[in-house]
Amino acid sequence: MSLRDTLKQREEQREAAQSGGEFPEGVTRYVRMGKHGEVNAEGRTFVILADPDDWFAYYVHEQSTFNGQRTIYHFRKHTCLHSPKGIRADQSAFKKPNPDACPSCLVGAPRKLYAMIPVYDLEYKTYRVIDTKEFHINNLIADYDKAEKMGRKFNPDYTLVGEAVHIKQVDKSFSLESGDASPEQLEEAKKFIGIDYEYEELANFREEADIVKLLHEADEEAKIDRDKLPPVSESNNEKPNEEINDDDLPF
Ligand SMILES: [Zn+2]
Repeated sequence: MSLRDTLKQREEQREAAQSGGEFPEGVTRYVRMGKHGEVNAEGRTFVILADPDDWFAYYVHEQSTFNGQRTIYHFRKHTCLHSPKGIRADQSAFKKPNPDACPSCLVGAPRKLYAMIPVYDLEYKTYRVIDTKEFHINNLIADYDKAEKMGRKFNPDYTLVGEAVHIKQVDKSFSLESGDASPEQLEEAKKFIGIDYEYEELANFREEADIVKLLHEADEEAKIDRDKLPPVSESNNEKPNEEINDDDLPF
């Protein structure tokens, strides 16, 4: 095989690996939310793959301010190491920051609850996750419960799991209402109910040393206790961890 062919093949493999091999360029496992995302004011239809009790809840350290034009992050957002690694975890065990488990908890970096909702994407014919913060999750669950309650008036066993929903941006949050999908699409979606969605991988947990490093890079306004911040380890400088780009992150 010529060098040209080899390079071309490697490029294709890289692209396939990045997109999970199932998505066109620019589309990832994470559904892009917001005005310029896939779930915008017009919205998008998915099939819900799990009950809210089985959505993956975890924590993210983040602190930002909006300067009127754009959001400024005072340190790079990252997954809190003191987070559940799967669904149905004992949430009360993770409610409070844990300085022994996470350097960002140790320095008191602001910590927020996020959750991932597994959905089947009618267009790409595979599962994806809607990853969003507590405020939006609350609104989506309220709508979810409303829709389910309505369905149960006619059928006590009704569940929204496996049904089509339309999710769109409304005001500064998101809404969920029942959507349309063909019986064939619903049948396809069912294959993705209860599979392993690999949440731990999707949450992109960083190495401790990597987190210490990004905390050292925090700007002046970052609410962190710098006196408690461990030094950047030498070994980390010599052997940098595999870089996680912001594009690879769900949040
Ligand atoms: Zn933490």
